[in-house]
Amino acid sequence: MLVLRVLNVVAPTYFLCISLVTFVLQLFLFIPSMFKDPSTTPLFSPALLHGALFLFLSANALGNYILVIQSSPEDLGKCLNSGGGAEAVAARPDGSRSPGSALPSTHFCRLCARVTQRHDHHCFFTGNCIGSRNMRNFIMFCLYTSLACLDSLVAGVAYISAVLSVSFASPLAFLTLLPHSISQFFSGALLSSEMFVILMLYLWLGIGLACAGFCSHQILLILRGQTRYQVRKGMVVRARPWRKNLQDVFGKRWLIGLLIPVLNVGSDCHRPKDK
Ligand SMILES: [Zn+2]
Repeated sequence: MLVLRVLNVVAPTYFLCISLVTFVLQLFLFIPSMFKDPSTTPLFSPALLHGALFLFLSANALGNYILVIQSSPEDLGKCLNSGGGAEAVAARPDGSRSPGSALPSTHFCRLCARVTQRHDHHCFFTGNCIGSRNMRNFIMFCLYTSLACLDSLVAGVAYISAVLSVSFASPLAFLTLLPHSISQFFSGALLSSEMFVILMLYLWLGIGLACAGFCSHQILLILRGQTRYQVRKGMVVRARPWRKNLQDVFGKRWLIGLLIPVLNVGSDCHRPKDK
Protein backbone atom coordinates (compact mmCIF):
# COMPACT_ATOMS: atom_id res chain seq x y z
CA MET A 1 0.00 0.00 0.00
CA LEU A 2 2.87 2.36 0.83
CA VAL A 3 4.37 1.69 -2.61
CA LEU A 4 1.05 2.59 -4.25
CA ARG A 5 0.78 5.78 -2.20
CA VAL A 6 4.32 6.78 -3.21
CA LEU A 7 3.50 5.97 -6.84
CA ASN A 8 0.38 8.14 -6.53
CA VAL A 9 2.67 11.11 -5.80
CA VAL A 10 5.64 10.23 -8.03
CA ALA A 11 3.62 9.59 -11.21
CA PRO A 12 1.87 13.03 -11.35
CA THR A 13 5.21 14.71 -10.54
CA TYR A 14 6.85 12.75 -13.37
CA PHE A 15 4.08 13.77 -15.78
CA LEU A 16 4.33 17.46 -14.83
CA CYS A 17 8.15 17.43 -15.12
CA ILE A 18 8.00 15.83 -18.59
CA SER A 19 5.37 18.40 -19.63
CA LEU A 20 7.53 21.28 -18.40
CA VAL A 21 10.65 19.96 -20.17
CA THR A 22 8.64 19.46 -23.38
CA PHE A 23 7.31 23.04 -23.19
CA VAL A 24 10.79 24.48 -22.65
CA LEU A 25 12.34 22.47 -25.51
CA GLN A 26 9.52 23.29 -27.92
CA LEU A 27 9.25 27.00 -27.12
CA PHE A 28 12.92 27.81 -26.67
CA LEU A 29 14.70 25.35 -28.96
CA PHE A 30 12.63 23.65 -31.66
CA ILE A 31 10.30 26.49 -32.69
CA PRO A 32 13.03 29.22 -32.72
CA SER A 33 15.23 26.91 -34.83
CA MET A 34 12.43 26.72 -37.45
CA PHE A 35 12.44 30.53 -37.81
CA LYS A 36 15.98 30.34 -39.14
CA ASP A 37 14.80 28.73 -42.38
CA PRO A 38 15.18 31.55 -44.99
CA SER A 39 12.99 29.81 -47.58
CA THR A 40 9.77 30.35 -45.61
CA THR A 41 7.32 33.25 -45.73
CA PRO A 42 6.64 34.91 -42.36
CA LEU A 43 2.81 34.51 -42.48
CA PHE A 44 2.59 30.75 -42.93
CA SER A 45 5.99 29.76 -41.70
CA PRO A 46 6.32 26.19 -40.38
CA ALA A 47 7.45 27.65 -37.07
CA LEU A 48 4.16 29.50 -36.52
CA LEU A 49 2.04 26.60 -37.77
CA HIS A 50 3.95 24.15 -35.64
CA GLY A 51 3.79 26.47 -32.61
CA ALA A 52 0.02 26.83 -32.98
CA LEU A 53 -0.41 23.05 -33.35
CA PHE A 54 1.74 22.31 -30.32
CA LEU A 55 -0.10 24.86 -28.17
CA PHE A 56 -3.46 23.40 -29.26
CA LEU A 57 -2.39 19.83 -28.42
CA SER A 58 -0.72 20.68 -25.13
CA ALA A 59 -3.59 22.97 -24.00
CA ASN A 60 -6.04 20.11 -24.63
CA ALA A 61 -3.79 17.57 -22.88
CA LEU A 62 -3.28 19.75 -19.79
CA GLY A 63 -6.87 21.03 -19.83
CA ASN A 64 -8.26 17.50 -19.82
CA TYR A 65 -5.72 16.49 -17.16
CA ILE A 66 -7.17 19.19 -14.88
CA LEU A 67 -10.74 18.19 -15.79
CA VAL A 68 -10.02 14.53 -14.94
CA ILE A 69 -9.02 15.63 -11.44
CA GLN A 70 -11.86 18.16 -11.12
CA SER A 71 -14.52 15.71 -12.31
CA SER A 72 -13.29 12.74 -10.31
CA PRO A 73 -16.08 10.29 -9.39
CA GLU A 74 -18.06 11.36 -6.36
CA ASP A 75 -18.01 9.34 -3.20
CA LEU A 76 -21.00 7.03 -3.57
CA GLY A 77 -21.18 6.74 0.21
CA LYS A 78 -21.87 10.49 0.44
CA CYS A 79 -24.29 10.35 -2.48
CA LEU A 80 -26.31 7.56 -0.94
CA ASN A 81 -26.23 9.14 2.47
CA SER A 82 -27.63 12.34 1.04
CA GLY A 83 -30.46 10.27 -0.43
CA GLY A 84 -30.90 8.37 2.82
CA GLY A 85 -30.88 4.70 3.65
CA ALA A 86 -27.22 3.94 3.07
CA GLU A 87 -25.63 4.45 6.42
CA ALA A 88 -23.90 1.10 6.05
CA VAL A 89 -21.85 2.47 3.17
CA ALA A 90 -20.37 5.29 5.20
CA ALA A 91 -19.98 3.15 8.26
CA ARG A 92 -16.94 1.33 6.82
CA PRO A 93 -14.36 3.97 5.95
CA ASP A 94 -11.37 1.72 6.62
CA GLY A 95 -11.96 -0.33 3.47
CA SER A 96 -11.67 -3.64 5.28
CA ARG A 97 -14.54 -4.79 3.15
CA SER A 98 -15.82 -3.09 0.02
CA PRO A 99 -18.68 -1.01 1.37
CA GLY A 100 -20.42 -0.62 -1.96
CA SER A 101 -20.09 -4.23 -3.00
CA ALA A 102 -23.81 -4.77 -2.71
CA LEU A 103 -24.39 -2.27 -5.51
CA PRO A 104 -23.58 -3.04 -9.15
CA SER A 105 -20.21 -1.89 -10.56
CA THR A 106 -19.15 -0.11 -7.37
CA HIS A 107 -15.68 -0.30 -5.99
CA PHE A 108 -13.94 1.04 -2.92
CA CYS A 109 -10.58 2.56 -3.87
CA ARG A 110 -8.22 2.45 -0.91
CA LEU A 111 -5.98 5.16 -2.40
CA CYS A 112 -8.84 7.64 -2.87
CA ALA A 113 -10.66 6.25 0.23
CA ARG A 114 -14.10 6.36 -1.37
CA VAL A 115 -16.71 4.22 -3.08
CA THR A 116 -17.39 5.03 -6.72
CA GLN A 117 -19.97 3.74 -9.11
CA ARG A 118 -19.02 2.66 -12.62
CA HIS A 119 -15.43 2.46 -11.47
CA ASP A 120 -12.92 1.85 -14.27
CA HIS A 121 -9.47 2.03 -12.71
CA HIS A 122 -7.27 4.19 -10.50
CA CYS A 123 -4.98 6.38 -12.63
CA PHE A 124 -1.65 7.06 -10.91
CA PHE A 125 -0.70 9.86 -13.30
CA THR A 126 -3.73 11.91 -12.25
CA GLY A 127 -3.85 10.45 -8.73
CA ASN A 128 -7.58 9.87 -9.14
CA CYS A 129 -10.12 7.18 -9.83
CA ILE A 130 -11.52 7.06 -13.35
CA GLY A 131 -15.27 6.55 -13.55
CA SER A 132 -18.24 7.62 -15.63
CA ARG A 133 -17.85 11.30 -14.67
CA ASN A 134 -14.31 11.76 -15.93
CA MET A 135 -13.92 8.94 -18.46
CA ARG A 136 -14.41 11.28 -21.40
CA ASN A 137 -11.78 13.73 -20.14
CA PHE A 138 -9.44 10.84 -19.40
CA ILE A 139 -9.67 9.55 -22.98
CA MET A 140 -9.14 13.08 -24.30
CA PHE A 141 -6.15 13.45 -21.98
CA CYS A 142 -4.59 10.21 -23.33
CA LEU A 143 -5.34 11.15 -26.94
CA TYR A 144 -3.89 14.67 -26.76
CA THR A 145 -0.90 13.59 -24.66
CA SER A 146 -0.12 11.00 -27.31
CA LEU A 147 -0.46 13.55 -30.12
CA ALA A 148 1.62 16.18 -28.25
CA CYS A 149 4.39 13.60 -27.68
CA LEU A 150 4.39 12.51 -31.33
CA ASP A 151 4.41 16.17 -32.42
CA SER A 152 7.40 16.82 -30.14
CA LEU A 153 9.09 13.72 -31.54
CA VAL A 154 8.75 15.02 -35.11
CA ALA A 155 10.00 18.49 -34.12
CA GLY A 156 12.88 16.96 -32.17
CA VAL A 157 13.90 14.73 -35.07
CA ALA A 158 13.87 17.77 -37.38
CA TYR A 159 16.02 19.71 -34.92
CA ILE A 160 18.57 16.91 -34.44
CA SER A 161 18.63 16.28 -38.18
CA ALA A 162 19.50 19.96 -38.80
CA VAL A 163 21.97 20.39 -35.93
CA LEU A 164 23.88 17.12 -36.28
CA SER A 165 23.37 16.69 -40.06
CA VAL A 166 21.88 13.25 -39.44
CA SER A 167 19.66 11.76 -42.14
CA PHE A 168 16.54 9.91 -41.01
CA ALA A 169 15.72 8.67 -44.52
CA SER A 170 16.53 5.11 -43.48
CA PRO A 171 14.14 3.50 -40.93
CA LEU A 172 17.17 2.10 -39.11
CA ALA A 173 18.59 5.59 -38.50
CA PHE A 174 16.34 6.13 -35.48
CA LEU A 175 17.30 2.75 -33.98
CA THR A 176 21.03 3.37 -34.33
CA LEU A 177 20.81 7.01 -33.19
CA LEU A 178 20.91 6.26 -29.45
CA PRO A 179 23.93 3.91 -29.31
CA HIS A 180 25.77 6.11 -31.80
CA SER A 181 24.98 9.27 -29.78
CA ILE A 182 26.04 7.68 -26.47
CA SER A 183 29.45 6.75 -27.88
CA GLN A 184 29.81 10.27 -29.34
CA PHE A 185 28.75 11.86 -26.04
CA PHE A 186 31.36 9.98 -24.02
CA SER A 187 34.04 10.77 -26.59
CA GLY A 188 33.16 14.49 -26.24
CA ALA A 189 31.82 14.97 -29.76
CA LEU A 190 28.24 15.60 -28.63
CA LEU A 191 26.97 18.39 -26.34
CA SER A 192 24.96 17.54 -23.22
CA SER A 193 21.97 19.51 -24.52
CA GLU A 194 21.98 17.53 -27.79
CA MET A 195 22.26 14.25 -25.88
CA PHE A 196 19.34 15.33 -23.68
CA VAL A 197 17.17 16.06 -26.73
CA ILE A 198 18.03 12.64 -28.19
CA LEU A 199 17.02 10.92 -24.93
CA MET A 200 13.77 12.92 -24.94
CA LEU A 201 13.03 11.66 -28.48
CA TYR A 202 12.88 8.08 -27.18
CA LEU A 203 10.85 9.15 -24.15
CA TRP A 204 8.29 10.94 -26.36
CA LEU A 205 8.08 7.91 -28.63
CA GLY A 206 7.49 5.61 -25.64
CA ILE A 207 4.90 7.85 -23.95
CA GLY A 208 3.18 8.65 -27.27
CA LEU A 209 2.77 4.98 -28.22
CA ALA A 210 1.77 3.95 -24.68
CA CYS A 211 -0.92 6.66 -24.48
CA ALA A 212 -2.19 5.83 -27.99
CA GLY A 213 -2.43 2.13 -27.08
CA PHE A 214 -4.11 2.87 -23.75
CA CYS A 215 -6.57 5.27 -25.42
CA SER A 216 -7.44 2.70 -28.14
CA HIS A 217 -7.98 -0.04 -25.56
CA GLN A 218 -10.18 2.24 -23.46
CA ILE A 219 -12.31 3.18 -26.49
CA LEU A 220 -12.66 -0.52 -27.35
CA LEU A 221 -13.93 -1.21 -23.83
CA ILE A 222 -16.41 1.66 -24.11
CA LEU A 223 -17.72 0.31 -27.44
CA ARG A 224 -18.31 -3.02 -25.67
CA GLY A 225 -19.96 -1.23 -22.73
CA GLN A 226 -17.38 -2.54 -20.29
CA THR A 227 -15.10 -0.98 -17.71
CA ARG A 228 -11.58 -2.15 -16.96
CA TYR A 229 -12.77 -3.13 -13.48
CA GLN A 230 -15.53 -5.34 -14.91
CA VAL A 231 -13.05 -7.03 -17.25
CA ARG A 232 -10.65 -7.68 -14.37
CA LYS A 233 -13.40 -9.14 -12.21
CA GLY A 234 -14.86 -11.19 -15.09
CA MET A 235 -18.27 -9.48 -14.78
CA VAL A 236 -20.77 -10.12 -17.56
CA VAL A 237 -22.33 -6.97 -19.04
CA ARG A 238 -25.61 -6.63 -20.85
CA ALA A 239 -25.12 -6.28 -24.62
CA ARG A 240 -26.06 -2.80 -25.88
CA PRO A 241 -25.59 -1.06 -29.25
CA TRP A 242 -22.11 0.49 -29.50
CA ARG A 243 -23.59 3.90 -30.31
CA LYS A 244 -25.44 3.94 -26.97
CA ASN A 245 -22.25 2.98 -25.16
CA LEU A 246 -20.39 5.82 -26.89
CA GLN A 247 -23.18 8.26 -26.06
CA ASP A 248 -22.95 7.31 -22.38
CA VAL A 249 -19.39 8.65 -22.33
CA PHE A 250 -19.23 11.30 -25.05
CA GLY A 251 -22.84 12.51 -25.12
CA LYS A 252 -25.40 12.40 -27.93
CA ARG A 253 -23.11 14.26 -30.32
CA TRP A 254 -20.31 11.85 -29.59
CA LEU A 255 -18.28 12.70 -32.68
CA ILE A 256 -18.13 16.38 -31.68
CA GLY A 257 -17.54 15.27 -28.10
CA LEU A 258 -14.49 13.36 -29.28
CA LEU A 259 -12.98 16.48 -30.80
CA ILE A 260 -13.91 19.37 -28.52
CA PRO A 261 -13.11 19.25 -24.81
CA VAL A 262 -16.07 20.37 -22.71
CA LEU A 263 -16.45 20.16 -18.96
CA ASN A 264 -18.31 16.98 -18.04
CA VAL A 265 -20.60 17.87 -15.14
CA GLY A 266 -22.59 14.66 -14.83
CA SER A 267 -22.86 12.97 -11.44
CA ASP A 268 -22.30 9.31 -10.64
CA CYS A 269 -25.05 9.53 -8.03
CA HIS A 270 -27.84 9.91 -10.55
CA ARG A 271 -26.64 7.93 -13.51
CA PRO A 272 -29.08 5.18 -14.40
CA LYS A 273 -26.19 2.93 -15.35
CA ASP A 274 -25.28 -0.51 -15.30
CA LYS A 275 -24.43 -3.19 -15.38
ZN1 LIG B 1 -8.75 5.78 -6.67
